[in-house]
Amino acid sequence: MAATTHTPDAITEACTACGTETPHDVRIEIRTESERERNARYSREPYRVTTCLHCGDESSLRMNNA
Ligand SMILES: [Zn+2]
Repeated sequence: MAATTHTPDAITEACTACGTETPHDVRIEIRTESERERNARYSREPYRVTTCLHCGDESSLRMNNA
């Protein structure tokens, strides 16, 4: 077990709603979506979802930008 500094789950990122950098809760979500152009089946894509702990604004970023 590595000794880490005081690092909670929240990380600091810029929030467009707040207009400043705020602590965010970050999680990875697998979301199902259909991509007819690439595959007739549903594909599950990992999204990086960040929630602003200050205003609750949520934004998701698709991790597979292929
Ligand atoms: Zn915010």
